[in-house]
Amino acid sequence: MTAEPLGHAAAGEPASPAASAPPAASASAAASASAALPPTVDVVPVVPGLHMLRFPIGQAYVWRDDDRGGGPASLTLLDAGWAGAEEVLVRALRGIGGPGARLRRIVLTHAHRDHVGAAGALAARYGCEVLAHRLDAPVVRGEEPVPEPDLTEWEVPLYERGIATVPEAPPTRVDREVEDGDVLDFGGGARVVHIPGHTPGSIAVHLPRHGVLVTGDTVASVGGVAFGVLHVDRAAAVESMRRLSRLEPLRVVCFGHGDPLTADAAAVLRAAAEAARA
Ligand SMILES: [Zn+2]
Ligand SMILES: [Zn+2]
Repeated sequence: MTAEPLGHAAAGEPASPAASAPPAASASAAASASAALPPTVDVVPVVPGLHMLRFPIGQAYVWRDDDRGGGPASLTLLDAGWAGAEEVLVRALRGIGGPGARLRRIVLTHAHRDHVGAAGALAARYGCEVLAHRLDAPVVRGEEPVPEPDLTEWEVPLYERGIATVPEAPPTRVDREVEDGDVLDFGGGARVVHIPGHTPGSIAVHLPRHGVLVTGDTVASVGGVAFGVLHVDRAAAVESMRRLSRLEPLRVVCFGHGDPLTADAAAVLRAAAEAARA
């Protein structure tokens, strides 16, 4: 898919993903449906230092560390949106980071195509590191197949008309495999939280100094904060969601799909985690 330098998408996350796309009867039908979708992104400020990048399906986040000496800002991308979206992402990063800003790293919450897509192209362009959990890294690199989700009946159309219409991510290099408890050098110390279930190597990223949590797809915020969809291991994902809800402090919670949670974040996430069922 070629990267067309298009402007911002007019619409945000559709209530039902890609509702206008025809049902994907096969992989090739899904591919041709995706080819018709332009790579667009909305840039949405969340809190100081944090922006959401919203694609037609799925979201990425940018954390900006300002240089105290007045030098250029350092940017960290949490997930990387769609394959083919690198040109719109480069422009978005320029707008967020200001003159001379450098993309330092891309942290992938998991190996799904709506999160990995543009990572390789951006890493090549900026010469930055790509980080992923040890268990999802072989999938990101294209060495292992994407693990099949354990679909409930109502998730089947969501899968076929949603995620399957996103362009497939090309094999993408991973420079650093991370583990639970690793602390990354941005946002005052960003903690990796291993939350298996959505995929075996799903991670969340917690910035305790700012009370910011990026959950990936274990939790979603489409029509309210709730257990995510398309998990490989639903029981493990419930446990992982409960673990996330116990992190402290939580002031802002950001999801792979749906609006960030900025009010009563800890209480809302805890209630949603208690209600989650495999
Ligand atoms: Zn996703
Ligand atoms: Zn996912």
